[in-house]
Amino acid sequence: MVPTIPAKTILSPYRRDNQWFGTEYNMNLYKGCCHHCIYCDSRSACYHIENFDQVAFKENALETLRNQLSRRIKTGVAATGSMSDPYNPFEAQLCLPRHSLELLNAYQFGAAIATKSNLITRDIDLLTEIREHSPVLCKITVTAAENSLAAQLEPDAPTSTQRFAAIKELAKAGVYTGVLLMPVLPFLTDTPGNIRAIVEQAADCGARFVYPYLGVTLRQNQREYFFAQLEKRFPGIKEQYQKRYGERYECISPRWKELWELFTRLCGQYGLLYKMQDIIVGYRMGYESRQLTLF
Ligand code: SF4
Repeated sequence: MVPTIPAKTILSPYRRDNQWFGTEYNMNLYKGCCHHCIYCDSRSACYHIENFDQVAFKENALETLRNQLSRRIKTGVAATGSMSDPYNPFEAQLCLPRHSLELLNAYQFGAAIATKSNLITRDIDLLTEIREHSPVLCKITVTAAENSLAAQLEPDAPTSTQRFAAIKELAKAGVYTGVLLMPVLPFLTDTPGNIRAIVEQAADCGARFVYPYLGVTLRQNQREYFFAQLEKRFPGIKEQYQKRYGERYECISPRWKELWELFTRLCGQYGLLYKMQDIIVGYRMGYESRQLTLF
């Protein structure tokens, strides 16, 4: 049984100049996440999420969303997947993102989804309906090309192979899809081989972009959990982090220059976008004038 939590709102507006994929609203349907990624930022103390690994869904989420959408708020793109993966294992029964997409479709809103789950392909029918009138963006996170390494880093998320298969299916259906290549973990995934394999598979599957961060950010609580997992799974790596970064927030890969050169060269070779502004322009192209005419 999945617990519930009270929620006054589902949709929250971003600032007008939101630089993160240029979306207008944030839509959180679940609280917590059970994919157990060892580096997850949502465990940070600043978010005050107790029992983060326990998924809960927001009470009356769909009714609240419908009320908000029907209040004649300005249409825009609603993003989901920032603090919890919307396609968690319970979603197969609960269908919250699916019904939310139905509502976004009915009220002529666009959708931007970030996930590590291939369950997103269940909703391709709705995503293709939405893209008839509004922008749609799918961001599939892949941090390790090798399934065995991904299973250590993201123990309860679908395999990288399943994620690439999802990208292929979404792209084939004409849904604007790309890869979030983040974090790139120093001493673990910051190898030319890993970066190359992810970019090449992304291109092979029809991704339109790969958006990278060549490092990881660490804060209180998140850092302690990450270090405990490193000790358990990758002996000796915690000490390398402590020595190089201490308590620093931004832990950029010591190999970032070499990796950036390789990454940008490969993206150029395969025609993949990697700059935020280009990706925003890419997935919204052809919709701006249509959305303006609604007002
Ligand atoms: S899928 Fe995202 S929200 Fe869930 S544990 Fe992993 S990083 Fe955190």
